[in-house]
Amino acid sequence: MDFNNTEKAFIAKSDRDLKWSSRMFTVMGMPLIQKVGQASVNFALKIHLPIEGLIKKTLFNQFVGGETIKGCSKNVDVLSTHNVKSILDYSVEGKEDEADIEAALEETLRAVKNAAKNPSIPFAVFKPTAMVKSEILEKNDAGIELSNEEKQQLAKFKERIDKLCKTAYEGDVPILVDAEDSWYQNTIDDTVDEMMLKYNKQKPIVFNTWQMYRHDRLEHLKNTYKKAVEQGYYVGAKFVRGAYMEKERKRALKYGYNSPIHPDKASTDKAYNDALRFSLEHIDRISVFCGTHNTDSDELLMSLMKENNLKNNDNRIWFAQLYGMSDNISFNLADQGYNVAKYVPYGPVRDVLPYLIRRVEENTAVKGQTNRELLLIKQEMKRRKNAKVNFLKQEMEKKRNQKPVS
Ligand SMILES: Cc1cc2nc3c(=O)[nH]c(=O)nc-3n(C[C@H](O)[C@H](O)[C@H](O)COP(=O)(O)OP(=O)(O)OC[C@H]3O[C@@H](n4cnc5c(N)ncnc54)[C@H](O)[C@@H]3O)c2cc1C
Repeated sequence: MDFNNTEKAFIAKSDRDLKWSSRMFTVMGMPLIQKVGQASVNFALKIHLPIEGLIKKTLFNQFVGGETIKGCSKNVDVLSTHNVKSILDYSVEGKEDEADIEAALEETLRAVKNAAKNPSIPFAVFKPTAMVKSEILEKNDAGIELSNEEKQQLAKFKERIDKLCKTAYEGDVPILVDAEDSWYQNTIDDTVDEMMLKYNKQKPIVFNTWQMYRHDRLEHLKNTYKKAVEQGYYVGAKFVRGAYMEKERKRALKYGYNSPIHPDKASTDKAYNDALRFSLEHIDRISVFCGTHNTDSDELLMSLMKENNLKNNDNRIWFAQLYGMSDNISFNLADQGYNVAKYVPYGPVRDVLPYLIRRVEENTAVKGQTNRELLLIKQEMKRRKNAKVNFLKQEMEKKRNQKPVS
């Protein structure tokens, strides 16, 4: 697999698109922008500076599919033409009041139903924290006694998750439950386990997320597998490394407990790859959703599939990347017939800002990610330029050869 084949990677991008992306990643890589970017965007929005248009033209266009489900359809179709599927992710974050939570539930239900009728959208997805005030989850995880009102909110959270999973089950579309901060993941894991027991009896419909930067996750995966065998259900396993490392470490330091994160990148990588190995050993029970931009892990998964005589398009295995990133992975894998999907976030510009800021931060925190994207984009721009020059040269040569000899 040549992940550096930029011709295939950017087949869906016009010259203009590439130029924009190149500018964007160049700016994102500037240390000054990384330092002042987030603070100045927040400040500008707070004082109502009209910067939404600018954000929409730049960061939003690069990393977000549209403002609504319908607004994403053009991008979904373009990806689908090249066999890259989409997962529409309603990415409005940080809303905590009841009306906003209900609105998020309704919108996510619409997204689940939309996925159920569109073969270009093979999964639905949601963030559990969009379904309840995160404070309730945090308290419950910490074993703090909840008030009656809080108990009701927790019960409502579970009802909402059930409604989403039931709708996915009825529409026969698998649903991914994202993972966020470790300090409320236990409550989420328990809820998702209940959902798997309820809806994964015939096949995996509900998928939990394992953040492999946590040193306890491989053990957790093995325990989940054991429980699934004992209780007779399938495990849907989405694997990521984890997006909140700095925040996790900072909190552990602040409150003086052991950080849940592996001590270094190599141990996170090992855990991620061990989780893939374990799942492939138990592929009859565990379906794998490999969410990564790390080509070593993708290559490992491809070779494990080969060792196990699995076809490239075995429907128990999916590769996934985020929209606007690592097209070299998505498009080259899809070209070889693997199941590939992009997480396509959507939502109003202002409301998807936390997601966008995380992408900017990730492109800073993940060593070399911006550089990687930029190098590939530039490589493709150069390839296209050379191809045009060669084409013109050939045309001129043809014309010269056609001149009648006097
Ligand atoms: C489809 C998809 C869905 C996703 N869903 C989620 C989700 O639900 N929850 C979530 O948290 N994230 C999610 N992410 C983001 C993901 O967790 C990573 O942040 C991102 O993909 C970068 O990791 P990587 O596997 O691509 O590889 P790489 O670029 O090789 O690895 C970077 C990651 O390694 C880890 N790491 C880096 N340095 C160290 C260190 N010093 N010590 C220990 N670990 C280190 C961190 O997790 C870092 O993000 C998702 C990503 C994708 C592609």
